[in-house]
Amino acid sequence: MAGALAQPRQPARRGGAADLTRRRTIARARPRPQELDELRELVQEAGARLEHRIVGHTDGGVALETVAVGNPSADVPAVGFFGGVHGLERIGVRVLLTYLRSLVRRLAWDTVLQRQLEHVRLVFMPLVNPGGLLLGTRANPSGVDLMRNAPVDALDAVPWLLGGQRISAGLPWYRGAAGAPMQAESRALCDVVERELLARPFSLALDCHSGFGAVDRIWFPYAHTRRPIGHLAELHALSSIFEASHVHHRYVIEPQSRQYLAHGDLWDHLYQRSLDRPEATFLPLTLEMGSWIWVKKNPRQLFSRQGIFNPLIEHREHRVLRRHIAWFEFLTRAAASCGRWLPQGERREREHEAALARWYGPRSRR
Ligand SMILES: [Zn+2]
Repeated sequence: MAGALAQPRQPARRGGAADLTRRRTIARARPRPQELDELRELVQEAGARLEHRIVGHTDGGVALETVAVGNPSADVPAVGFFGGVHGLERIGVRVLLTYLRSLVRRLAWDTVLQRQLEHVRLVFMPLVNPGGLLLGTRANPSGVDLMRNAPVDALDAVPWLLGGQRISAGLPWYRGAAGAPMQAESRALCDVVERELLARPFSLALDCHSGFGAVDRIWFPYAHTRRPIGHLAELHALSSIFEASHVHHRYVIEPQSRQYLAHGDLWDHLYQRSLDRPEATFLPLTLEMGSWIWVKKNPRQLFSRQGIFNPLIEHREHRVLRRHIAWFEFLTRAAASCGRWLPQGERREREHEAALARWYGPRSRR
């Protein structure tokens, strides 16, 4: 979602129609990013153990792909893992490929994992914006910021430009033309969520980003309003079991609206779509890896656009790739066991009150 505050000037310097043409030419010349090849190698290695699907194509003709593993039955809970919505935030893609590789290799021998996958479905779309990944841009090759592209308008004032703008595709945080259909990448992501997650009684989504602040954050909706979402009690219960079982974790868990509001957030849009089925619970989360830590430890990164959004030193990248696996594993287990912690009745009311005090009260804490 973010990656935002750190990149105001660059697109303006090279903005405009000429820049868009240049980006489209590069996208045509280089067919696909290296990470897409890595994904396909994993698909090949896994054989029948992974279900691989082409779920759409970018305007430049690059395939948009998902892989899935676990019980496909519609009444089983699911977790969707998404990455690379902002092409520049490559580390999100790499973290998901690392987790997927670990799953694929464990499937060959790990009985506990095989049992777990009888109770949960995992769906991965690690390269939502392959064109942006190729070009090293936040936006897709048409200059649209996919995380500002959904048909949702903020109810309160948003920060200028950063909150989403319709002035020009040559400026950052462009939402796309008013009334235009969503971009191919956004549409494909929404189709995957609707088909694979929203149809189930319980699902979680995790969208991996980087670039905002100095600590790792887990955000939940809303981004378009400071109003709490309907499933606040469930989110609080999820945070509680995570914090109780991972006492040394380093995430700040909070609604995105505590940091800034934005138009067009895809997860606000999809969460609202999920409310059409009141019997189902869909909790979308965003991992925002705090890249300023990497910059602080290696200030030379400030002089590279990639460096503001990604760890450049190998051992640091390895540490980042390891760190989030425990969080991914937790989500997988939490989904598989949702019947044991989702609050009902009076407990749900207590969780809701505790969540209001924690995140929305006058002196709310993190
Ligand atoms: Zn982002």
